[in-house]
Amino acid sequence: MQYRKLGKTDVNISAISLGTEYLINLPRDHVVSVIHSALDHGINYFDLFFAQPEFRDNMGYAFKDHRDKAMLAAHLGSTDQNGQYERTRDLNLAIEFFEDFLRRYNTDYVDVIYLHNSDGQEDYDLVMNGGFLDTAQKYVKEGKAKFIGFSGHTVSTAKQAVESGYIDILMFPINLANNAIEGRKDLLNSCVKHNVGLIAMKPYAGGKLLQKDQVMSLEHWQLGADKREMEKPSVITPIQCISYVLSQIGVSSIVPGCKTVEHLKETLSYFNATDEEKDFSNVIKYFQQYVEGECVYCNHCLPCPSEIDIGQTIRLFEMAQNGITPEIRSAYNAMQKNASDCVQCGSCEERCPFGVEVIAKMEQVNKVF
Ligand code: SF4
Ligand code: SF4
Repeated sequence: MQYRKLGKTDVNISAISLGTEYLINLPRDHVVSVIHSALDHGINYFDLFFAQPEFRDNMGYAFKDHRDKAMLAAHLGSTDQNGQYERTRDLNLAIEFFEDFLRRYNTDYVDVIYLHNSDGQEDYDLVMNGGFLDTAQKYVKEGKAKFIGFSGHTVSTAKQAVESGYIDILMFPINLANNAIEGRKDLLNSCVKHNVGLIAMKPYAGGKLLQKDQVMSLEHWQLGADKREMEKPSVITPIQCISYVLSQIGVSSIVPGCKTVEHLKETLSYFNATDEEKDFSNVIKYFQQYVEGECVYCNHCLPCPSEIDIGQTIRLFEMAQNGITPEIRSAYNAMQKNASDCVQCGSCEERCPFGVEVIAKMEQVNKVF
């Protein structure tokens, strides 16, 4: 497992974590086997938004005796109505289900309390000013929650949350399909600037990226933008999807849902994948509105005779546009070779499929750092 810093928190989070939406309505033994396998593989963060009693009881059982190894993320505003998930803005009901979470997980606290699933300005205003944020802050003061998160699928409101200064963690869909949606890049930069940890959900755009169809119809919650149809290549692999998401600025972790231990192991095989298997440069150009000349950190331009990790160098440079934080500085310093080692041979520019002017970029990087 690889670990990454989670924003301003003092936590190192597993780069691949676990979404648990596929573990609903399954027998307890099955749920326990997936959770324990995840823990054994070093996963330390679990998104647990479902509120159904049986789901919570199974999870509580799975985490018994393992609480110290797991960050549990609960959602204020997620409830169970007649056996089905329902988002609520009834604060008393949300509180009731949060207290139920603590009881059924047999714990005194959650690691993250999310202001759950907020999209659109009206709902954002309600969540931030209508008691939900106050309640989450009260739980932090009481020791019932360590960090406050915000989950949503709309760039404009997610960005407001990040810039509000009230949240530690954002959970937002990040995937190949929304590579170029309006405002996403600003949102990611804003997370870095405000040191807000970013948990990427929907790494496969709800599975649409992995289907063989060449035209996919994406919903708002899968895309993080207005629903639309998009063309794609017929074959995109899970490893390419994960590789893309983990290379995006600000992303601390992704939360793919895994239904079985086998599926979990397949997902974690990402860490043993070759650079060729991780290379997503042949698929990203299919996603509309791609801007020629922008680096997507794919490293398709390697090898560099000076052994510069070109993708990471440009990534850190772009993260530093809003100021060089100590984390960015130390990540830059940790690279064995950097922009000052560029001998301007130009071979990377010939190989870059996206027309990035790498030599000029290296000069800029060198100046900034
Ligand atoms: S310069 Fe081009 S090939 Fe290299 S990492 Fe950036 S986008 Fe990829
Ligand atoms: S131009 Fe610079 S960064 Fe690109 S391959 Fe040559 S030495 Fe490496």
